[in-house]
Amino acid sequence: MPKKQFSEFSALLRAQRKLLLEEVRAKIAASDDSLGFVNQSKITDDDGLADAAAEMEVAMVIRESQELQEVEAALARIADASYGSCFDCGEEIGQARLKAYPAARRCLPCQEKYERTQGQLFKSGL
Ligand SMILES: [Zn+2]
Repeated sequence: MPKKQFSEFSALLRAQRKLLLEEVRAKIAASDDSLGFVNQSKITDDDGLADAAAEMEVAMVIRESQELQEVEAALARIADASYGSCFDCGEEIGQARLKAYPAARRCLPCQEKYERTQGQLFKSGL
């Protein structure tokens, strides 16, 4: 990829990072409230519901943190000029895929192969 295009994807990744950080921060800030919900529901004997809600919240924060790591890794690849090359085959990932998913580390054929070998575990498009 021509280096002048790095700045375009760098801007996309930075915007994505800002959004994810805000979401994670908001969820962590709101976790006091959901703890209140958990405690309250203990009184009403509705542990199952409270646990499910708390688990969902935690799962979302974990997922967003992982996305954040992917974005950070992509920004690091821009910094060392390896951005845009497939992790597995070294070919160009392709503008369309990078525009849709700037943190992508594999080209589409390699990503599909990777997901097949990973089975059902990774369906996120990372
Ligand atoms: Zn590839």
